[in-house]
Amino acid sequence: MITYIKDLVSGSWALLKGMRITMINFWRPKVTEQYPENRETKLQNMCERFRGELVMPHNEKNEHKCTGCGICQMNCPNHTIKVITRQETTEEGKTKKVLDKYMYDLGSCTFCGLCTQVCPQKAISWLPNFEHAVFTRSKLEKQLNRPGSKMAEKKVVAPAAPKKEGGEGEPKVQ
Ligand code: SF4
Ligand code: SF4
Repeated sequence: MITYIKDLVSGSWALLKGMRITMINFWRPKVTEQYPENRETKLQNMCERFRGELVMPHNEKNEHKCTGCGICQMNCPNHTIKVITRQETTEEGKTKKVLDKYMYDLGSCTFCGLCTQVCPQKAISWLPNFEHAVFTRSKLEKQLNRPGSKMAEKKVVAPAAPKKEGGEGEPKVQ
């Protein structure tokens, strides 16, 4: 009988403790986010260094900065990147390697950021996209260079400072 009463009291006490927490949270201001209605706000407020999706920026002339060197592919621990190149003949009759397809598999990317860090041209960067749900994995395989795009012409610019005092520095290719 005594055990029964003890259990009854301790059970009721535990119930009251739980109800206390419930009532505290019931009267607190609501913090529920109205997703997906707040999608745009979420994207705008995303932190600067968030890695959502790898992209290759193009300019208004449909040009990118990728030389097809393959350094990003070599450094990717997951074989997520495939840099496919082809040979092209220039107007001077020289053959040159150019980017044909830059394939990226979002489904196997760990967002480690090694590829963007090692790229000598800064040709790839991150978008803050965070919604990647699809029904077929093949939809996560993306070609980052746009159809018909090409590498931006290299500019010849003057160096910031001459090499020797009073002398003129060599033009620098960027
Ligand atoms: S973020 Fe990491 S895993 Fe993803 S493509 Fe770049 S190097 Fe590969
Ligand atoms: S993205 Fe950068 S590292 Fe990768 S192939 Fe292009 S230029 Fe080379």
